[in-house]
Amino acid sequence: MTQAKRSEIVVIGGGVVGLAAALTLQQRGRRVLLIDRDTPGAGCSWGNAAVIASSFVLPLSDVGHILAAPRMLLDPLGPLAIRGRDLMTTAPWLGRFALNALPSRQRRTIDALKLLNARAVTSWRSLLAGIGQSHAMAERGMLEVVRGGAVDHEASLRRLAARLGAEGIAVTWLDAKAVAELEPVLAGRVGAGILHRDVAHVSDPAIVSASLLNGFLSLGGKFLRAEIERLVPMESRVRLCFSGDEIVADRLIVAAGYRSRDMLTPLGCKVPIGVERGYHQMVEKTGPLIDRPISFHREAFLATPIGNQLRLAGTVELAAIDAPPAWKRAEQLVGLASRYLPGLAAVPGSRWMGARPSFPDGLPAIGSLEGIPQISYAFGHQHLGLTQAAVTADALCCLLAGRGAPFDLMPFSLGRFDRPFSHINR
Ligand SMILES: Cc1cc2nc3c(=O)[nH]c(=O)nc-3n(C[C@H](O)[C@H](O)[C@H](O)COP(=O)(O)OP(=O)(O)OC[C@H]3O[C@@H](n4cnc5c(N)ncnc54)[C@H](O)[C@@H]3O)c2cc1C
Repeated sequence: MTQAKRSEIVVIGGGVVGLAAALTLQQRGRRVLLIDRDTPGAGCSWGNAAVIASSFVLPLSDVGHILAAPRMLLDPLGPLAIRGRDLMTTAPWLGRFALNALPSRQRRTIDALKLLNARAVTSWRSLLAGIGQSHAMAERGMLEVVRGGAVDHEASLRRLAARLGAEGIAVTWLDAKAVAELEPVLAGRVGAGILHRDVAHVSDPAIVSASLLNGFLSLGGKFLRAEIERLVPMESRVRLCFSGDEIVADRLIVAAGYRSRDMLTPLGCKVPIGVERGYHQMVEKTGPLIDRPISFHREAFLATPIGNQLRLAGTVELAAIDAPPAWKRAEQLVGLASRYLPGLAAVPGSRWMGARPSFPDGLPAIGSLEGIPQISYAFGHQHLGLTQAAVTADALCCLLAGRGAPFDLMPFSLGRFDRPFSHINR
């Protein structure tokens, strides 16, 4: 057999998380090989809602959400669906998800999300500035609105604003007039809203991924299209096996989204990851667009300006990753958004489905393997992969440089699944 090719650092997975890591490491003078089985950025990172959602620190695993689940499931236009045929696959994840609504676990998740999200916008600012793409991010906040006359919806939004405020998140309560001053197109259609002041959004997630890749390549980074089948840890390195070939890496970062599980489970790691599938539908709009993302509080999805169109994105569908898409979940967003935004028309052929890689505790996995420190990992960023990509990249750079990360990485360790009750005495 010929001698395996050697690489200093290999990143597996060219989604926004792997791309941000590869670029940041290359910028800091490391020599990086990025590997993806597909075009970088074409996975879940391609069609997300484009929001750097730094205010999203309250986990979805919450007693309120769990109690509301039956109502949501019965509503064919509701934000949550569970595919009956895949229940055997999704039930264990759902059980763990429900357990994470326990107050002690929720507290742990909120504190950990705050560590990442507090740095999200600043990290993106410097990552984009480094490749001359500062214009790709707008810092105009995000509006979350309810319809006029819906008293219980408004009360629910008020409770959310109070909870976020108590967590130190910058939110401002707006009455209908103040909402309309910010986004005139909503005049007469909403009862109230909150402005998430520190939220930003990007011009187009697919273009941002392409810019990260171009920045990485222009600094001498290398890309290889290959599907990694197996990892073999060596004494101080790791062998990556793919279609009869192999590469030996001094350091490896596994950032392959949900599929990271297939590479790490054979090494003895517990990786209880699932997928929360979501959809988008692009729409054209007559008249003025909006200046910032709008989140529809009751309906639980977003409208984000992308170029001269709007992206309606969100919903959670618990199903097997390879189950056929339920396109009506994307199409129904047009009718729901039309209650707030006049003159919408679906752009033909522009619907999309993506599979969020999600752990039941709502936190990503970022760290290095215990006992195999040459293998690091960054995946499972669920609803917040775009938001947390740049800050995750910063943390990985510190880890690989042997320096302490700018914040405690323990809550993100995969080892947390070896000690599921470790939170109890904390
Ligand atoms: C509808 C929707 C809206 C969303 N909105 C937002 C939002 O507004 N803000 C936000 O922060 N997040 C949002 N998200 C979540 C976000 O998109 C994801 O968290 C993020 O894209 C995950 O990035 P990733 O790099 O981990 O995974 P991916 O983008 O899926 O990348 C993983 C890559 O690994 C590659 N790969 C897999 N296996 C292998 C292998 N064996 N060998 C080589 N390569 C491999 C794949 O080809 C892929 O390119 C949304 C998601 C959805 C579905």
